[in-house]
This record gives sequence, C-alpha cells and structure tokens, in this order.
Amino acid sequence: MICDAHVHIGYYLRIGCRQPYYYSPKRIEGILKRCGVSSYVVSSTCAQIKSISINEIVREAREIRHVAGSKAHIFFWLSGRLYDDDNNMQWLKSGMFDGIKLHNGETPWTTKRQADLRYILTKAKEMSLPVMIHSGEDEEHSPSRLAVFAREFSNVRFNFAHCRPMDEMAEIISSCPNVWTDTAYMPLSYFKRLCHYNWHNRLMFGTDLPVWQAHEDIGIQKRYSEYIATFKETGLESSSALAFSNFINPLDTIHDLA
Ligand SMILES: [Zn+2]
Repeated sequence: MICDAHVHIGYYLRIGCRQPYYYSPKRIEGILKRCGVSSYVVSSTCAQIKSISINEIVREAREIRHVAGSKAHIFFWLSGRLYDDDNNMQWLKSGMFDGIKLHNGETPWTTKRQADLRYILTKAKEMSLPVMIHSGEDEEHSPSRLAVFAREFSNVRFNFAHCRPMDEMAEIISSCPNVWTDTAYMPLSYFKRLCHYNWHNRLMFGTDLPVWQAHEDIGIQKRYSEYIATFKETGLESSSALAFSNFINPLDTIHDLA
C-alpha cells in the first residue's frame, strides 16, 4: 500500500511556462489515482500567492475533498501573511483541514516569530492536528533546530519533511518519539541509504508531486511512477504505510521508541 505524505496542489513554476502553472485538485488526484496511491497528505502552494485569500484556500480545500474524498488529508499551508490575516486561526472552524504545514524559509517561524509559532503549536496540540515542517541542510531548517520545538510540544506529531540531512534526521527520529519524516524530493539514488537506519516506523513515503516540473522537463506521472517503483525496492513500503496512518490518525498515541 502506497501512501504519499507530501503532495501539493496550486501554483508552481514550470519549465516552458511564463506564469506559474496551476496544478488543480482534479489533475493531481488523477495522477495519484492512476498510480494506485491509497491515501495522501496535500497542501496548497496558493498560500504563497499574495492575491489569494484564506476563503479561496478553504474553497480549494472543498474542491479537493469533492474529487478525492477521504483519501486526501488536507493540510493548511500557513504562511506568515495568512497568519497575520487571521491570527485566531478561525479557518480551522471550516473543518476542512487535518493538519498544518509550515515552511521556515518563507516565514521565519523558529527565529523571528517564535511567539506565533508557539500559538500555532498550542492550537495543533488542542485539536490534535499533525504539523508538517520543511527541513533541510542549512542551520535554520536543520532537524536539530526544529527538534527544539518538537521537544517543547511533545504531544504534537511533527513531520520534518524531506529527511535531510539523513544522518541527523535519523538521530532526531530516535530521540523524539513525536517526530516523523518523509522522502519528498529526495534523489532516487538516496533511497537505498534509507535501509541503513532504524526509522522506528516513522519514515513516510513522500514525493513533493508536482514540484519536479519546476526544474525538469519531464512528465510528472512518469516521474511519479519511478519514485514509487524505486521506493518499493527498499522494502520499506509497509512500514511507511504504518508510519503514515500513525501520523495522520489523531486517535493513535505517539509511538514509544521500541
Ligand atoms: Zn513540498
């Protein structure tokens, strides 16, 4: 069973297009369906487009729900701008969102906006919502930096997306039972290395569909199929599906380190 913890709809740069290209819920759901994906987490890059309001993002979430039903777990990509527009996070009342996505590169949550970040994480804790946050090689995105907040909010489930750097991420996964990671946008050649670590059933398959077309002239369904096939070769398919369901399901308790 393949579950994808990291999918987007919305506007992306695309090679050959002068304007950002809109990847609609219908188009993305079509690819996932044809590739046999059972369940996925999706967030909208529309949060990055200045003229788009919270109401429009909620409307788009309804469209995802309409085309994908309960297969889609919709995360609200909360940018600093959208937080400032509604700092009580009233959009949560729409009932459309199963989690929150944050990106420290677009809004410096862990440095300049720590009070706002703590407010968001307190809401996530109250509502038992998982939180996905971009991770990366550089200091501000590093797993160790992000883990400061995961330790402070030990009842919140976090996905430190992208699993990088891999060594450091594996250490954080071992020491923080409320942290998961995903394989989104990982070079296919790295997949084999995943088998050298114990991920404590908290490594999720993830792709970043459809972001490849921003950098490569390639068919996204073809690339997506390659991603799935290469991941299956690792033998991590069933543990990653378990990781996905434990991350998403708010009724599950956080895993111990066994
Ligand atoms: Zn992404």
